[in-house]
Amino acid sequence: MDCIFCNIIQGKIPAQFVYKDEHVVVFHDIHPKARVHVLIVPIKHLDSINAVTSADTNIVGKMFVVAPLIAGQLGVKESGYKLLVNVGEGAGQVVPHMHMHLLGDRKE
Ligand code: AMP
Ligand code: ZN
Repeated sequence: MDCIFCNIIQGKIPAQFVYKDEHVVVFHDIHPKARVHVLIVPIKHLDSINAVTSADTNIVGKMFVVAPLIAGQLGVKESGYKLLVNVGEGAGQVVPHMHMHLLGDRKE
């Protein structure tokens, strides 16, 4: 299967990584919709939240643990940020590898 986010995770396509652990990676969105726009992406390929099972609890939990860490690192933890997950094409999911957007407007 040719998945753009799997390719990024495997280093076959470049991305600007800001975090990596055993469950998730975080990299900058290529078309940022806010001054801070990164994607929190599980290393395991799951098409969307619809593919998540209880076996993935650690992965999904880690996405939420990492979000405030990255928000702090990128300077939006106190000013505020949004976490957004599109599920399915009808909701605007374009990349069929589950991911969470972290969007914030860092004051500069
Ligand atoms: P979604 O619409 O929720 O599927 O979001 C997919 C996101 O992935 C969009 O915001 C795209 O800008 C972003 N994106 C697509 N290709 C890349 C890439 N090669 N590197 C970084 N972000 C990407
Ligand atoms: Zn994938």
